Amino acid sequence: MNIDLQRFAGPCACGHEHTITVKDIWIEPGAVKRLGDLLKGYAHPVIICDANTKKAAAGSMRDYFDSLEILEVTGSDIHANDNYVAKIQENLAETADILIAVGAGTIHDLTRYTAYARGINFISVPTAASVDGFVSTVAAMTWHGMKKTLPAAAPMYVLADTDIFAKAPFRLTASGISDLMGKYTSLLDWKISHIVTGEYYCETVSRLESEAVREVESVLDRIRDEDPECMEKLMYALILSGLAMQMIGNSRPASGAEHHVSHLWEMEIINDYIDALHGEKVSVGLILCLEYYEKIRKAIESGECRVVDGRAYETELLQDTFGAKGKYQDAKKENDPNLMETLDLSDLESKLPLIAREIAALPESEKMRGLLADAGCVTRMEELGMPADKKDLTLRLCPYVRRRLTLLRLAKNFSFPGSLY
Ligand SMILES: [Zn+2]
Ligand SMILES: [Zn+2]
Repeated sequence: MNIDLQRFAGPCACGHEHTITVKDIWIEPGAVKRLGDLLKGYAHPVIICDANTKKAAAGSMRDYFDSLEILEVTGSDIHANDNYVAKIQENLAETADILIAVGAGTIHDLTRYTAYARGINFISVPTAASVDGFVSTVAAMTWHGMKKTLPAAAPMYVLADTDIFAKAPFRLTASGISDLMGKYTSLLDWKISHIVTGEYYCETVSRLESEAVREVESVLDRIRDEDPECMEKLMYALILSGLAMQMIGNSRPASGAEHHVSHLWEMEIINDYIDALHGEKVSVGLILCLEYYEKIRKAIESGECRVVDGRAYETELLQDTFGAKGKYQDAKKENDPNLMETLDLSDLESKLPLIAREIAALPESEKMRGLLADAGCVTRMEELGMPADKKDLTLRLCPYVRRRLTLLRLAKNFSFPGSLY
């Protein structure tokens, strides 16, 4: 299928005029055959891939691999970080005038950042439906040890070839399912911030994304069986999540508290290195957030949720954790000025019923855990090698990894039996 991008661009009921920078997206068997036409007029295209993604695309892309220059990123543990960006910059010819990312999330982040830095375009060839970042305009990077969202280029074209991505190792597909299901809490966090602070919110973008999430949720068993048509639905929903970021201009619709959990663990502030995929960490983050949000809802409904003043920056907590790793100043800088400084607590109290109603529309945590587990996804901290006793500290600390208001951050002002505050 060819995605009709005009549907997403233009004036919207939210008052904004949404723009889409990607020119065309195909999700179909044989999509990479279009590459030849798309490269006409370019003198020096370079394919960026790694050994695994090169192998995954070899059958469908043989002619291109034979005729185009290839920059194969090498290393035992390739990450989207400053080291690998430097490696690519060193090895990429000055005359390269377009890049072709053949890979999953990491290769895309490295390519989009490089394309942006060089001021050239790139074409995306996803080798797995493993993340939602293919058309993102920002790169999720670890930069000198801190998780950063850096400006980057969106692809000019996406060639999602079902013959390639539907055959990816299932672990990658499961990671994509998890990244997608994480939109439940990211969209909720966005809506709640809108309700409480008046932050800009687009109902259309949110609806588009949640419809696509539900569509995938209804065919999870067929994705488990690697049914190509259902795999295309997953790829479509993931790409749509990226388009939502383009329409809003940042990752707000696609990244909330569940991603903050993942980012915190990636920063290794309270844990050792976790050898897990992005979606696997988001998956566990989603379940932890759903569980805590459910507790908040029940406390509000039973009248046990009191609003307390938890607006202040938790200096001691941050010094004991980020500080112990020499990252206190970085964490402080990320959070300045304090997001909750101007929060009106009596107004927040009056909005508790609205907040409970929004949480009630989320799937139940146990039901989601069952769905994800049946679909082959990770759902428990132990599966990641994270001790379960780090759960509370994770939930308290992770809202500080990004200066973005989530229900989890707001919950620092909620006190109820069993609450973290
Ligand atoms: Zn809108
Ligand atoms: Zn994600």
